[in-house]
Amino acid sequence: MCVSPPAYSPEPFEGPQAERGRAIPTVVQLAIIGDIHALWSPLDTAYFNASDVHGVLCVGDLPGRNHRQLPTVAKALSGLTKPTLVLPGNHDGPGPLDVLAEGLFGRSPAFRAAKINRRLDRLTADLSPAQLTGYRRHTWSTADHTVDVIAGRPLAMDGRFLSFRHVLESRHGVRTLDESTDRLCALVDTCAHPIVFLAHNGPAGFGANAHDPWGLSFFGRDNGDTDLQRAIGYAIQTKHDVQAVVAGHMHHNSRRPRSWQRRVGNTLYVNAARVPRIQTLGGTEQRHYVRLTLGDGAATAEAGCAQRS
Ligand SMILES: [Zn+2]
Repeated sequence: MCVSPPAYSPEPFEGPQAERGRAIPTVVQLAIIGDIHALWSPLDTAYFNASDVHGVLCVGDLPGRNHRQLPTVAKALSGLTKPTLVLPGNHDGPGPLDVLAEGLFGRSPAFRAAKINRRLDRLTADLSPAQLTGYRRHTWSTADHTVDVIAGRPLAMDGRFLSFRHVLESRHGVRTLDESTDRLCALVDTCAHPIVFLAHNGPAGFGANAHDPWGLSFFGRDNGDTDLQRAIGYAIQTKHDVQAVVAGHMHHNSRRPRSWQRRVGNTLYVNAARVPRIQTLGGTEQRHYVRLTLGDGAATAEAGCAQRS
């Protein structure tokens, strides 16, 4: 556990590296927020603002079935005083018909890209000072410790396709899964610290069985992202310390339990998407998040509950 609260750099996610010669690093505590799907309240904001976590990583999918809830959730997240990154999921801009078209055909109409881009622009503004991210490295320094967070591909929903290709092309210049892989590997090349990958959909290789972290029980196939899988592999091959990969998208809950975390080598893979995020169990309201602990050893994750204070 964190012995003493670390000091933040003035710009926590872009700040200078940790000062050399300081004490041996203790740990960094991150709150991983799975698919919110409209279940966020002022109680959550107050809990995390008062907690000992050093930063918050949201894996995306903020609204419920309808994208119209997106501004409400985004403005609530803007009240977080801890450094916060939000990686947009497939519901964070696209509407239900856009998601349906991607699901059925692996492609949504090009003319919808402008609309989705406008929603993403508004989401960026509504979230501030929380930060909408994607295809970016964020170097986060506390007084004792530095981590590189690689924000992966936005709007991911099916590992077979570059979902919402027209949006990715206009916002990021990425047109194919190979180009997406190259973009992520280029970010890896810029990393000089332990790495946490932040994604919406999980990487390929963790979904062949229903009980896998990102298993797709009704299709019986691995729905994971191949570009993310390849970038992780590249990072490990090039001797980077990939401490954790955090994502969501493939929901789990008490009726559909799955192994939501798995360690492979030194890397911990975490699916934080417990949906519904807020539920009453045994008469107690549970507000789910995952507490990710990074230190000198291997990362660990435990299910947390944003309790009423
Ligand atoms: Zn999703």
